[in-house]
Amino acid sequence: MFNALPSPPQIKTLPAKSQRTYWHAVWLGSLPPDELDDTRPARRPLANINPFTPDGQALNKKKRALSKTPTWGDATPEQPAKRLRESNISRYNVEFVELGVVGRGAFGRVARCVNKLDGCVYALKRSLRPVAGSAAERAALTEVYAHAALGRHPHLVRYYSAWAEDDHMIIQSEYCDGGSLQQLMEAGPLPESELLLLLAHVADGLAYIHSQQLVHMDLKPGNIFIVRGEGGAAPDSDDGYDDDEPDLPHHKYKIGDLGHVTCVSSPSVEEGDCRYLPKEVLQEDFTHLTKADIFAFGLTLYEAGGGGALPKNGQEWHDIRDGKLPVLPNLSREFNQLLKKMVDPDPNQRPSAARLRRHPLLHPAGNKSKAQLRRELAAAKLKNELLARKLQEAARCIKSLTPNLVNQESAKFRTRSAKRLQKPRIDSNIVEIIQSVSSPLRIERRTDRRKRV
Ligand code: ATP
Ligand code: MG
Repeated sequence: MFNALPSPPQIKTLPAKSQRTYWHAVWLGSLPPDELDDTRPARRPLANINPFTPDGQALNKKKRALSKTPTWGDATPEQPAKRLRESNISRYNVEFVELGVVGRGAFGRVARCVNKLDGCVYALKRSLRPVAGSAAERAALTEVYAHAALGRHPHLVRYYSAWAEDDHMIIQSEYCDGGSLQQLMEAGPLPESELLLLLAHVADGLAYIHSQQLVHMDLKPGNIFIVRGEGGAAPDSDDGYDDDEPDLPHHKYKIGDLGHVTCVSSPSVEEGDCRYLPKEVLQEDFTHLTKADIFAFGLTLYEAGGGGALPKNGQEWHDIRDGKLPVLPNLSREFNQLLKKMVDPDPNQRPSAARLRRHPLLHPAGNKSKAQLRRELAAAKLKNELLARKLQEAARCIKSLTPNLVNQESAKFRTRSAKRLQKPRIDSNIVEIIQSVSSPLRIERRTDRRKRV
């Protein structure tokens, strides 16, 4: 059958085996006859370019520099894009068993599913409407790109895979068994200790997103998830200390729903929920997008702390954005101050996610475990010992270099009240000794001056 097909001149030089493979492909209809024509420009492989990876971001910047007109393709340089229609694969029912629906959002329906092969439970988000060819396709691809570019982080919902089925997008991610923060808040305001845990975990996730030059742009209680049962057992570390660590947190907060993620350098902003949006973003000022995430996080903490449902518009909406955030009486003054800072009308005044992680509220000395304090004490003792040894060496060295000076100094000690002056004198003496090692001339000059007096 292969012999019946004409042999095009451009592949005549191919070995017989390659020719057979080629014609087999043509016959099956999977390869156009010109595919192996090396006289034509090479075809680009049909794979998307992820705009959120460092390479994609660089390409984005280049495209921006060439054309100032913002287009779909500017923010998502994936031409020729492998659109959803081209990658329809039936996996949902073949590979998974649905255990139940766990949530619905504006974009999709989320189900708890077990994978038939590995037996693990995952969350599968399926778009509500067919997205192929629609504007929603962009949001769906954005979420996939962002997940893939960000990879794994303890405070981001983990991504496993994504595919299209009947033109619906399906995203397979980690199943968060504690639900969303929104669901947790329905049971009442969180105490400050819990808000601090939320602050630590989400600030960590946000700092990571921001470090990748990306921004979330839809942070809110419905998009923060809880994973229980992680970290229950302390990592096995034989560090020689008693096993009296306080209970480690038994749950983790994780940032999810990455459908609005965009690059800081060439943003394509799809505004998130208006209840959490700062004014500057509504006014299309995209110069401080990381601080827009901080604003949304501030209002999330405020709401979780008992601030009540946030306004979508009206005077109250404006008041919050004008720096008039009501004080929450159940929270400490410091926590209220932090919330106020996070929603400051001036984005420059809002702390960065990295600064939030280092906030004193998260690292008070009183909150340290006994083991932690003991470890710090042991480290301090060791440091002291080393310094004392160095000091002795330095003193010996000085004594051998300038025996007269040391005698003068010790004579001074003998004549003054030791109790009042000895401690500070020792300190200043050390400084002098160290300075004198590096510059013996100075000692000579000082001794000269003393002689003159
Ligand atoms: P929206 O646009 O309204 O924010 P969405 O359509 O993008 O929502 P998600 O926010 O991702 O969808 O999910 C909707 C709901 O499904 C969540 O509020 C949560 O209750 C549930 N859910 C989503 N992902 C998970 C997950 N990984 N584990 C457990 N539950 C989840
Ligand atoms: Mg959501």
